[in-house]
Amino acid sequence: MRKIGDHAVVLGASLAGLLAARVLADAYERVTVVERDPLPDAAEHRRGVPQGRHAHVLLARGAQILDELFPGLLDDLVAGGAPVVRELAEMRFSPGGHPLCLKGHPAQAATYQASRPYLEGQVRTRVRALPNLEIVDRCEVVGLVTPVARDRVTGVRIVRGADGVEEILGADLVLDATGRGGRATAWLAMIGYDQPPEEQLTIQLKYATRHLRLRPDALPGQKFVAIGAEPGRPTGLVLFAEERDRWVLTLIGYHGHHPPADPEGFLAFVQTVAPPDVLAAIRDAEPLDDIVAYRFPVNLRRRYERLRRFPAGLLVFGDAICSTNPAYALGMSVAALQALALRDSLVSGDRDLARRYFRAAAKPVNLAWQLTVGSDLALPQVQGPRPPAFRVINAYISRVLTAAERDPTVAEQFLRINALQEPLGRLFRPSMALRVLLDRRRRHPEPAIDTTTRMAVGGPRT
Ligand SMILES: Cc1cc2nc3c(=O)[nH]c(=O)nc-3n(C[C@H](O)[C@H](O)[C@H](O)COP(=O)(O)OP(=O)(O)OC[C@H]3O[C@@H](n4cnc5c(N)ncnc54)[C@H](O)[C@@H]3O)c2cc1C
Repeated sequence: MRKIGDHAVVLGASLAGLLAARVLADAYERVTVVERDPLPDAAEHRRGVPQGRHAHVLLARGAQILDELFPGLLDDLVAGGAPVVRELAEMRFSPGGHPLCLKGHPAQAATYQASRPYLEGQVRTRVRALPNLEIVDRCEVVGLVTPVARDRVTGVRIVRGADGVEEILGADLVLDATGRGGRATAWLAMIGYDQPPEEQLTIQLKYATRHLRLRPDALPGQKFVAIGAEPGRPTGLVLFAEERDRWVLTLIGYHGHHPPADPEGFLAFVQTVAPPDVLAAIRDAEPLDDIVAYRFPVNLRRRYERLRRFPAGLLVFGDAICSTNPAYALGMSVAALQALALRDSLVSGDRDLARRYFRAAAKPVNLAWQLTVGSDLALPQVQGPRPPAFRVINAYISRVLTAAERDPTVAEQFLRINALQEPLGRLFRPSMALRVLLDRRRRHPEPAIDTTTRMAVGGPRT
């Protein structure tokens, strides 16, 4: 790719920042990534990514993009011990109370089960190796730099180490990937720009997580179990194998139905969610660490693509744009899709870059938001607008899930959409709708009554 500028600065070296940096390194002479945390050499937890202690699933679409940006990454994850799910039969997935029919057919794309610190460490090593890129850790960004006209961003104010002395780091482009709590909205206001409109959906979610060593053959042939919340039970769990022969178990509860963080309460919670064999596997397992908790109160989306005025030289990326219910495991894959949106936008140079990029990035964000809000609002505990069109769509999706309990084609289609491999519209294609409808007929055969009786009890059926 032709270089379109001298220096790009990326704020935040978590997964989104690293992916953006990888793409920017093709378009700028130099890239500097600035990160507040000290960055470990190995796959270790760090303060700025507290979510890394909890179950982190890299969806199939995210994995494909990571391998495109870093060829060989997935093979190296596997060589380092990350389990890979190649057959659907190795998974057990029960969204909304519907155990999907995932027996005996190969997955279209594999799922790689690396822990979050391991995945981030592997990506960071590859980004660090890029010849025109530098990662500066222990460095906090405290504000933007603009000329007097404030029509563009020309750098950032940073504080290195603990000395508290501010410096200016000049840049042709500043990309904010400082996560959900990032300051870009406040910084925009300080330089005289509107903040982006926000959309929110409160879910009051809480996670509690512990790593386990399962007994050999505790769950024969299985590597991944996810039991989602359902209308009568706003709780769930995820249990899957990771590298180093460990399993991560994350318990999930909405709106006060929260998993406890003490060992007895934790196990009692498992009992209310897990099927008998999964419960037995967990009960017999060796705990490897303390239970840690995480609160996620609200789904949040910032609509940068709707702003009329935006300074040149600034972009926003990753969770700083949209952060959705982690139970659907979308964040890292949406960041990967945003990286492709950024790459495509950079091909046409830096003219009008923010408008073109925010529009392109909004596409994967739209899908993630639709999937999240649709699933969350299926729970009566979650308060939010449910217009008639929404109710019709959710009623249809509930039928899709019912059909997916018996029909592997429907189950796999549902999985592909949830792994961001295909658009939501695929569920509404005539061929799919027919399968869903026929399944309903098979499950509920028409009663053998004559037409006159039927008319008498409730009018003609359609
Ligand atoms: C509990 C939980 C579970 C999740 N599970 C999944 C999952 O299963 N699958 C999935 O795909 N996604 C999951 N996610 C989402 C995923 O973690 C994020 O989408 C992903 O990390 C990308 O986020 P990010 O890089 O934009 O921000 P973050 O990961 O929040 O990183 C922000 C970075 O910016 C740095 N920073 C912040 N402020 C400054 C500053 N002023 N100066 C310098 N540096 C700064 C921080 O130290 C950090 O490194 C989960 C999220 C949560 C909360």
